[in-house]
Amino acid sequence: MTVTTRFAPAPTGHLHVGNVRTALHNWLWARKHGGRFLLRIDDTDRERSREEHVAAIRADLAWLGLDVDGEARQSERFALYEAEFARLEAAGRVYACYETPEELEIRRKILLSRGLPPVYERKAEGAPVPAGVAPHWRFRLDHDAPIVWTDLIRGPQHFDPKTLSDPVVRRADGSWLYLLPSVIDDIAMRISHVVRGEDHVSNTAAQIQMFAALGAEPPEFAHEALLVGTEGKLSKRLGSLGMADLRAAGIEPVALAALLARLGTSDPVEPVTGLAPLIAGVDFARFGRAPARFDEAELALLNQKVLHHTDYHAVAPRLPTAIDEARWNAIRPNLTTVAEAAEWAQIFDGPFAPPDAEAADRPVLAAATAAVESLDWDADPWGALTDAVKAATGAKGRALFLPLRRALTGRDHGPDMRELLPLIAKAEAVARLSGG
Ligand code: GLU
Repeated sequence: MTVTTRFAPAPTGHLHVGNVRTALHNWLWARKHGGRFLLRIDDTDRERSREEHVAAIRADLAWLGLDVDGEARQSERFALYEAEFARLEAAGRVYACYETPEELEIRRKILLSRGLPPVYERKAEGAPVPAGVAPHWRFRLDHDAPIVWTDLIRGPQHFDPKTLSDPVVRRADGSWLYLLPSVIDDIAMRISHVVRGEDHVSNTAAQIQMFAALGAEPPEFAHEALLVGTEGKLSKRLGSLGMADLRAAGIEPVALAALLARLGTSDPVEPVTGLAPLIAGVDFARFGRAPARFDEAELALLNQKVLHHTDYHAVAPRLPTAIDEARWNAIRPNLTTVAEAAEWAQIFDGPFAPPDAEAADRPVLAAATAAVESLDWDADPWGALTDAVKAATGAKGRALFLPLRRALTGRDHGPDMRELLPLIAKAEAVARLSGG
């Protein structure tokens, strides 16, 4: 069996971290098994679907490095849905319904008030057809066929079809709801694994009968626990946390992938610098059933760790030309985003105005100024400089290092000065230590 997965977003908004996580898991699974990963644009809702969202979805997948092996759009496949619908109608598996939403709501309330589950009753079937009313259509569940599947994440699942309402698959205006076109496409595209959020579990129950009604074997299913924000429920903020926001915050795509691949699994989140280890490691058996907690602070921290391991050649096109390989290696342990490299470029080469030295630091700086000219810049100038200043002033520890770091970089913190100093031109260092 060729593994084929699909990511099937409705282009009615921007992707958020939850959608992207589903896309990633589908992609990882396909790549792990040498299979195919398809993008299916679920744009049956023509009013709410937007071309700009389709473009953004493609761009977001590309940014993450999730290459697709094919793309389909549901809006171009209505002829197929029509044909399959006709087949189901001929077989009596879809039927016309004429209730208004108000009537359905009243029936629901009556059932609930009697302590009964609010399952759609097929009362209107065979009843006289009201004149001049276009029907909507329901799929007839087979009440004698118990619904079972072994979910790759949730384990054995069982539904009694009598407890489910026959789902509406088509509106009175002829437009399609999600359930049936999705099954028709999953069959046509030979989807082997459907990986999606657990909010789709009861859809799956109905869809399993649709696969059977259309004469197809259902695919495997993996329903993942939902992603929640740090406050415990899917917050508005998390829901609206789009890829553009993350990009603007300087998040590396691989850091986001590293987090989303492992969140909610029994495997640790690791600062990988490429997708390969995530492909090798994906395993639905290791996904938990509890909601996975997404924490932006954790992502920011992981982003730093990823940068710490990122090779110069992987980022060179995004760096100022002043940042060569040696400078990148010196600054990367201190970066939270790649964009900060521009600040360091300025610290290396100027323009640079040394901060006013505090009175207590002046002897250290005077000794440094006296020593710096004669230092060999190719032989550990920081070691030689600090030795000379220590010998001249007796300063040590923080009182020795901090004034020098401040004068040379304008900052209290930063990369190891032993690595940094040789990467600043000697004339620059001389000027900075002597106060300009
Ligand atoms: N368009 C559906 C959604 O975004 C797809 C669900 C599925 O993967 O089948 O929820």
